[in-house]
Amino acid sequence: MYKTFLVASLTMYSCVSQLESIDVSAKQEWVVESDPVRPKAESEYDAIIVGGGFGGLTSGALLAKSGYKVLLLEQQSQVGGYCTSYVRKGFTFPVGAHDISGCDQGGIGKLLSLLSLKKEDFFALHTRTYMFGDKKITFTGTNNDLVNQLSELFPKEKDHIAAFFAEARKALSEEHAPSSPTQTTFAAWKQATYQQKLDEFFQNQELKKFLCSLIGYIGTKPEETVASDALDTCFSYFLYGGYYPKQGGKLFADALKRVIESHGGTVLLNTHVDEILEFQGHVVGVRARENTFLSTIVIANANAKTLFLNLVPQKALDPAFLDAIRNLKMSMSLAIVNLGVDMDLSVLSSIMKGQTGFFISSNADPAAAPKGCASLSKGMHAQYAEVPPIDTPEYKEYKEKLAVQALSSLETVIPGIRDHIIVKDVITPRTLERFTSMPEGALYSFDQSRGTKRPYFKTPIQGLYLASSSTLPGGGVEAVVFSGMICARDIIDHKKNITK
Ligand SMILES: Cc1cc2nc3c(=O)[nH]c(=O)nc-3n(C[C@H](O)[C@H](O)[C@H](O)COP(=O)(O)OP(=O)(O)OC[C@H]3O[C@@H](n4cnc5c(N)ncnc54)[C@H](O)[C@@H]3O)c2cc1C
Repeated sequence: MYKTFLVASLTMYSCVSQLESIDVSAKQEWVVESDPVRPKAESEYDAIIVGGGFGGLTSGALLAKSGYKVLLLEQQSQVGGYCTSYVRKGFTFPVGAHDISGCDQGGIGKLLSLLSLKKEDFFALHTRTYMFGDKKITFTGTNNDLVNQLSELFPKEKDHIAAFFAEARKALSEEHAPSSPTQTTFAAWKQATYQQKLDEFFQNQELKKFLCSLIGYIGTKPEETVASDALDTCFSYFLYGGYYPKQGGKLFADALKRVIESHGGTVLLNTHVDEILEFQGHVVGVRARENTFLSTIVIANANAKTLFLNLVPQKALDPAFLDAIRNLKMSMSLAIVNLGVDMDLSVLSSIMKGQTGFFISSNADPAAAPKGCASLSKGMHAQYAEVPPIDTPEYKEYKEKLAVQALSSLETVIPGIRDHIIVKDVITPRTLERFTSMPEGALYSFDQSRGTKRPYFKTPIQGLYLASSSTLPGGGVEAVVFSGMICARDIIDHKKNITK
């Protein structure tokens, strides 16, 4: 299954339109020689990975497990990137990702099985409560609980609900088995927008709005979202559930780090890569903290803009390509208000949506808060351009204003919460940018609207790969894990082909 998905992904790349003179998504044909068996000098590696987010960790773990000598360099003091956590006064708060798809039959499920890891050790199923109008439903999405409740709430749409869920399930199953001769349903979802699909099945606007409630996970409008993208990134949560990554993903990130290390690889933390070293169009290594590390394969997990504009010598790239990269629009960002409260909120679901949306990490992962307390987070609209520079009085005021807004919204669902705060912390798009070097603190790297292009996973510099939310399949932890798999598979399969 995993292999067939990769074949389909690579085919998808090759179909990308070549109309523009510089198309960052254009397929690169190079293959790179690698020989994990050949003995290496101390500072020489089979593959160097720049960044310890899930794209980097996935490719690193798979390569290390296949015998490659791997070096992963991460600028922060921990791995995980946007999918990890921090601790304040005994409360654990995720840095970013909190609701993960694909933990069963999707990308993460496949990675877990390839590495012989158990889902339960790293992920906890969310329970979700949605309040809309005078209606309220609670479900996990792992069985028919959602279909049944929606059918009761919208009896006139009952048959359409059943048909929509059945068609979505069929399309997703075709996507994950691309060698199947009849991929007609998935192909139709690739051609339509999500809004068109909803309009095809439903009349009721409130129901359509509910089915768009996770569209923020892709960061686009329903009428600009390719329906098949919405299937993976939003709708799959209604079909297969969504999972909280325990400790905000830190446990899983540390497990992947251990896979690399236990297979002879090295992970260096607090190590910012300053330069990608290139010679005559080929990557030859990296420079970090005055050290030079050599390899003919470098996998960039750092964002593609950061990579091409700051780390690769500019003379190594076509100025038109650099311009095209510079002009890529970033996806949306967010601010997050994190709260540690001395209240027992265990009667609520771990994900609450409606007039006010928030999530309670400690309801999915009780270790996230001291006993009798709760750790919760509320996302707030925030645009990078409007955030004052960090360390200015205006920045402090901006954060305080967001916290006040978040609390008055939360008071409508949790009366009195203001009087129970032990920790209050605000993450802004600037915090996100500072933490991962992601321009503008974008959630999903580049904009994911219909028709936009992402850089191909093999760059114009031979041996320099991308494995991150900058390339396909896109943003979100599951997509990023797929991008790490695509990259590792390209390297490993080529080696297999030349040694046959
Ligand atoms: C607030 C927020 C909420 C989100 N919610 C969800 C969610 O609920 N579900 C979901 O699936 N996705 C969610 N996402 C998106 C998801 O977290 C990301 O798509 C994914 O984690 C990105 O992984 P990555 O490997 O591409 O890169 P990143 O996680 O960005 O990691 C890149 C790593 O590279 C390192 N790095 C960068 N430059 C250098 C350098 N020069 N030298 C060394 N290291 C470097 C960074 O420090 C970082 O660790 C959310 C994102 C945010 C910000």
